[in-house]
Amino acid sequence: MSRVVIENASLVVTVDDTDTVLADRTITIENGRITAIGPAAAGPEEAPDTLVVDGRGRLVMPGLVNLHTHLPMTLLRGLAEDVDLQGFLARVWAAEGAVMDPDTVELGATLGALESLLGGCTTQLDMYFHHEATHRGAVAAGSRHVIGPVFFEGPGPDGLAWQERLAGLRAWPGVLDAIGGPAVPLVAAPHATYTCPPEGFAEVVAVLRELLADGDRAGLLTTHVSENEAENAGVRERYDATPTELLARSGWVEPDLPLVLGHGVHLSDTDRDLLALGRTAVAHCPGSNLKLASGALRWGDYSHTGVRIGLGTDGCSSSNDLDMWQAMRQAALLARLTSGRPDVASAHEVLRAATIEGARALGLGDEIGSVEVGKRADLVLLDLAAPHLTPVHDVAALLVFAAGRGDVTDVLVDGEVVVRDRRSTRVDTADLLARARDRAAVAGAAAEGVRA
Ligand SMILES: [Zn+2]
Repeated sequence: MSRVVIENASLVVTVDDTDTVLADRTITIENGRITAIGPAAAGPEEAPDTLVVDGRGRLVMPGLVNLHTHLPMTLLRGLAEDVDLQGFLARVWAAEGAVMDPDTVELGATLGALESLLGGCTTQLDMYFHHEATHRGAVAAGSRHVIGPVFFEGPGPDGLAWQERLAGLRAWPGVLDAIGGPAVPLVAAPHATYTCPPEGFAEVVAVLRELLADGDRAGLLTTHVSENEAENAGVRERYDATPTELLARSGWVEPDLPLVLGHGVHLSDTDRDLLALGRTAVAHCPGSNLKLASGALRWGDYSHTGVRIGLGTDGCSSSNDLDMWQAMRQAALLARLTSGRPDVASAHEVLRAATIEGARALGLGDEIGSVEVGKRADLVLLDLAAPHLTPVHDVAALLVFAAGRGDVTDVLVDGEVVVRDRRSTRVDTADLLARARDRAAVAGAAAEGVRA
């Protein structure tokens, strides 16, 4: 039996249904699951085979859930700056064509997962081609990494035909089992309604449902929706419908299958009403939306609908980092600026969006997203002994508006300590960074050719 004890944590921010905050608690984790949250220990833990993490001066909270990202694009950080969407895509595609073979994708995914974990983000809903290599890379770093085959009309950067992608989806349960790692749902991920036909969406959900009927995994659908106005206009011209209406017609908005929409900035009230009929969450990516000038999601419009909001960073080629603390702060500030109201997107709401709401969006709400007995231990420890975290009057406001990645000291995923004293316990970081620089140089040269 594996056993971890976080001893005498100064604060435990549970993010349970009543946002309980506990002081001076010892958390026991057995075989990956939280089995006790008790009073501070009288003396040091002495049970054999127990890993003790000193919680004194530390805040314990649930691991952050990044609901929309493209981890391998970490290698393309800073390669397409200050250009319009056309210029952005031309440079990114040239770089991807030059370097993104499965080995490089795996390397980029490990780099992205390592950045995420060191910053307190334990789960990512990812989307990238060579999904098997991406998953292998992120799982190696210790992440709870959620991904599935991505679909494009036409060959796409990996050169696969549509039928080969469907075959990849059919094979995915077996590959997931072989790779191992923390439990995750079975995902299918057509890129967007402007890159895949409506009948393709219908076909993908039909195959996913066959797989779910045959196995014991939960399922999840994800795609990009209504990221900017040009996307909506293009889809309207081609199909006389909104992206959301196309999804609904293709059997994607159903109460029994979780659906996560990347971005969802420009959804109409009618779109939102339609999406509320299903089990839908929007992955709000404020950093990417601000930087690419895609628009501002209207946070307040969601409070009265059945559509959940989680938070994402998007990929590093558009938002430059995988910092979920920034995403929380950007979401709160943007919602207040655009609504003219300081009580929209409260720190409690934003913290919930980055943890339990993200977990529920993935269908993992009973397993992760809060610090409660019975849940899997996806936990983050922060060092409270810092001037910018002193004093603690309002702990949610502290986490959303003052804390950051540099405060994270230890991270557990599925009960395993994957970051200890700010270092990965799994990845040889110096070696990884050296290899990443080598491959990134090739990508940079290819993107440079596009500028010339
Ligand atoms: Zn995206």
